Amino acid sequence: MPAFSAMARIRRLPPVRAAWLAAVLALLLALPLGAQWNVEKIGDRDYLAGRDVKAFYSFTQYVVNGNTATFQMPGFWMRAHGGSKELTIKGLKFVMSFPAVRRGEEIFFSRTDLVKLIDPVLRPDYIKGLPDFDTVVLDPGHGGQDSGARGPHGLEKDIALKTALRAAALLRARGFKVVLTRSTDTFVTLENRVAIANRHPRAVFVSIHFNHASNRAARGIETFALAPVGTISAIDRWPERNLGKRRGNSRDAENIALATAVQNSVLRRLELARPVDRGVKRARFSVISGITVPGILFEGGFVAHAEEGKLLVHPTYQQMLAEGLVRGIENYRRALQK
Ligand SMILES: [Zn+2]
Repeated sequence: MPAFSAMARIRRLPPVRAAWLAAVLALLLALPLGAQWNVEKIGDRDYLAGRDVKAFYSFTQYVVNGNTATFQMPGFWMRAHGGSKELTIKGLKFVMSFPAVRRGEEIFFSRTDLVKLIDPVLRPDYIKGLPDFDTVVLDPGHGGQDSGARGPHGLEKDIALKTALRAAALLRARGFKVVLTRSTDTFVTLENRVAIANRHPRAVFVSIHFNHASNRAARGIETFALAPVGTISAIDRWPERNLGKRRGNSRDAENIALATAVQNSVLRRLELARPVDRGVKRARFSVISGITVPGILFEGGFVAHAEEGKLLVHPTYQQMLAEGLVRGIENYRRALQK
């Protein structure tokens, strides 16, 4: 569905619901302290100017060239484009909740994207009230009668299980406790996966999936964090519905930081196979909506793609995927401990 028709439907939401959502958003979207933020209304949404972003995060350079804004500091850069949701931070792709807006010599970011994406990614060590974790709940998608995506070389449920078992072994060797929502080819309901995760308060949750698309040319890796309140999911069939709070939204900052660390580590680990970076995205999958611990849903590649599908069933490739996942989890933990 084109974005503009979804937007038109949002504007037709009953006013009471819209007012409730605005009130919730105001509570959840407190701007980082210690800076002068000039909030501008663009449409009916709060936006922050690039000059304030530059000052607050101590970028040494901020240049708007045509439609593209580039922020730089030694060893680090960030790029956005007017009218686009795509944000690149040091080579890693993110899909923002709302497009950036260019006005004259200035690029503007939505308040939601500043608070829920840019801030936790740029300053993961500032995430508030973060409990440490010693447990990783690995959730291989599908299982039993539910095969998930089917490719000519194998089924999603099998690739997910094998990758999860490899990641489990690596994590245990590094001293983590590991809980698997399934360790054999069995069917587990989404509710049970959530219930298992929520029995382990000192854990992070990683759901492992592989992708399917009607377009056989689709390939690459993407990592989903739960969509923040009031934002449209990247993939819901009815994206304009149910924008309200889920249990997992209490972990928004941790979710995006974990997604960033995992996406980055997996891409680096697979570098030689030239993986396509499809980005860190937001959605409201049941498993990441219902959990109370930080969590993500990882999509490790497309089973029906001619080349990627073949790689995905290869034990060496599965091991590399598992190593990338584990490094991501370790990097996330390190960022929290700084
Ligand atoms: Zn799946």
